[in-house]
Amino acid sequence: MRKIAVDERLLNVEIVLENRKTAVARMTNGKIILKAPLHADSQQLMNWLAGKQKWIQKQLDREELHKINDDEIWILGTKRSVRIIHSNDTVSYVTSEGSSLVVTVKGNQNSSLVIEKFLRYEVETVLNRILKQCYASTGLQPNELRIKKMKRSWGRCSSTRIITLNANLIHCSPEFIHYVCIHELMHLKVMNHSSKFWELVEKYEPDYKKIRKSGSLLPM
Ligand SMILES: [Zn+2]
Repeated sequence: MRKIAVDERLLNVEIVLENRKTAVARMTNGKIILKAPLHADSQQLMNWLAGKQKWIQKQLDREELHKINDDEIWILGTKRSVRIIHSNDTVSYVTSEGSSLVVTVKGNQNSSLVIEKFLRYEVETVLNRILKQCYASTGLQPNELRIKKMKRSWGRCSSTRIITLNANLIHCSPEFIHYVCIHELMHLKVMNHSSKFWELVEKYEPDYKKIRKSGSLLPM
């Protein structure tokens, strides 16, 4: 594993050589994954990465703001403290203790992975519950629902009536999640953001203006 220095931090860099034309970098949990063409030279790749300090800093800030910070996490718009316990149990699990989340991790398994898995389960449960209400109130339903992490939008609706919702919605308030669900469902009727579209949104979420404002403050 190579390392790169950014300010005071040394970050791990994993280089993955694969059949591709250009190099691309992404960051997860403070580690940079650099995917590059098969013939690429590692030192040149590291030099290329070193020229991207601004981008790296931006990713770090994003992760900082974000959730998978081991001591606190935003769930449904509420900040929860996180306690991690390493145990000899055969499984890892997450429980609630007052306002804290207790993450029991088996052996030396990575706690971030346990939290990720927990959040994935939670977001599916919450979205399915809220959507069920929205389907009932609007009489609209997509052909398919997808839930995945997205960087630039909370939700998307395709012309083939597939709605994709951002898994990061788990950090947002239930009101905001409801608004996003209504927003995407209304795209099944009106694909653009015309005044007709917003009228429909308002019909099912009268507070949408206020909610949109509060949502934009949340880290994506
Ligand atoms: Zn939209």
